[in-house]
Amino acid sequence: MFSCVGYAATAADARLGPIKLDRRDPGPDDVQIDILYCGVCHSDLHQARNEWQNTIFPCVPGHEIVGRVAKVGASVTRFHAGDLVGVGCMVDSCRECPSCREGFEQYCEVGFVPTYNGEERQGGGITFGGYSRAVVVDQAFVLKVPEKLGPAAVAPLLCAGITTYSPLRHWKVGPGQRVGIVGLGGLGHMGVKFARAFGAEVVLFTTSASKVADGLRLGAHEVVLSKDAGAMAKERGRFDFILDAVAANHDINAYLDLLKRDGTLVQVGAPETPLPVSVFSLLMKRRNFSGSLIGGIPETQEMLDFCGEHDITADIEMIRMDQIEDAYARMLRSDVKYRFVIDMATMPESV
Ligand code: NAP
Ligand code: ZN
Ligand code: ZN
Repeated sequence: MFSCVGYAATAADARLGPIKLDRRDPGPDDVQIDILYCGVCHSDLHQARNEWQNTIFPCVPGHEIVGRVAKVGASVTRFHAGDLVGVGCMVDSCRECPSCREGFEQYCEVGFVPTYNGEERQGGGITFGGYSRAVVVDQAFVLKVPEKLGPAAVAPLLCAGITTYSPLRHWKVGPGQRVGIVGLGGLGHMGVKFARAFGAEVVLFTTSASKVADGLRLGAHEVVLSKDAGAMAKERGRFDFILDAVAANHDINAYLDLLKRDGTLVQVGAPETPLPVSVFSLLMKRRNFSGSLIGGIPETQEMLDFCGEHDITADIEMIRMDQIEDAYARMLRSDVKYRFVIDMATMPESV
C-alpha cells in the first residue's frame, strides 16, 4: 500500500477536507496514475451529501479523472509510464455476465465497481475517487486519451461526455431529427455538442435566461426558456428525441408532451426524489420514456476517439481543490459554465 492525499466528505453535512488515503500497490494488471485533473459531476454532490442514501463515509468523490501513467504492473501491455489516460465512473465489474461480455459493464448483472463509494474486488477495500493525487486501476477500465485535446477539458468527457454520447448513439440521433436537450449544466452542454455533431436539429431547454447565448454558441439551433409557457406550448408534438439532464425534481410531463408519436424521452439526470409521470402523456402518442446510465468501456473509448477526431471537449472553469464547496454551492444555483475541473496540483501535499 502507499498513501496519498485526497479530499473527502466525512458526513453528509460536513464540508469536504483533506484526508490521507491508502491506495493498493499496483498488481500485475494495474495501472498507477498520477491525477492531473478531475471534473466535478453533480453526482459527486448528490453522493457527498448522501442524497441517494447509499454513501459510505469517508467519501472521496471524483469520476472524471485524467492523468499520466506513473507505473504499470507486469501484465499490462496497453499502457506505459507517461501515457495520458482517463478513468470514468467504473473501475471494475464481474466481466462474465452477458452485459459485461457485450461491453456494457455499466449494466453488469452483479453490479459494477464504482470509482468511489464502492467495494474493491481486489481486497475488498472501499473505492476512493479522483479528488486525490493518485489512483490505481485495472487496465481493463483505463481509457486512452487523445494527446491533442487539452487534458483538463477532456476530464468531463469521462462522465458528462459518455453519459450523453451513449443514449444519443443508442437511439440513433442524427440528421432529419429534432432533438431536445434539457438543462445546460455539465451533462447538458455535452449533449448539445454531441447532438449537433451527429447532425440533428438541436433545441436546448433551459431555466436560465442567462444561458441563451451560450446555448447557441455551444451548438443549439434554438433555445427555449422552459419557464415560458407560451414558448413551451409551441413545441408540443415536435420532437423525435429528448435527453433530460436535470439534476433536480421538475415536471417531466411538460417534456413528454413535446414528443411526436413514437418519440422517446431519455432521463439521465438523477434527482433524489421520484418524478411523477402522467400516463396520458405516454399513451396518447405511444411515446417512450427511458433512462440511460453512463456508457460501457468500449463506447467510452469510442467517444474519446470521436472527440479527438472532431476536436470536442468540455467548456470548463478550473478550480483549486479548496474551492470545491463554492463549486458545489454554485452547482445548486445552476451557475455552472459548464463544468468545474479541479487542478490536482492544488491538492495539499500532506494532511
Ligand atoms: P449540473 O451541471 O448541476 O447541471 C444540471 C442542470 O439542470 C442545471 O445547470 C440547470 O440547467 C438544470 N436544473 C437544475 N435545477 C433545475 C430545476 N429545479 N428545474 C429545472 N432545471 C434545473 O449537473 P450535471 O453534472 O450535469 O448532472 C445532471 C444530473 O445527471 C445529476 O442528477 C447527476 O447526478 C446525473 N448524472 C447521471 C448520470 C447517468 O449515468 N445517468 C451520469 C452523470 C450524472 P439550466 O440552468 O439550463 O436550467
Ligand atoms: Zn458523473
Ligand atoms: Zn458483469
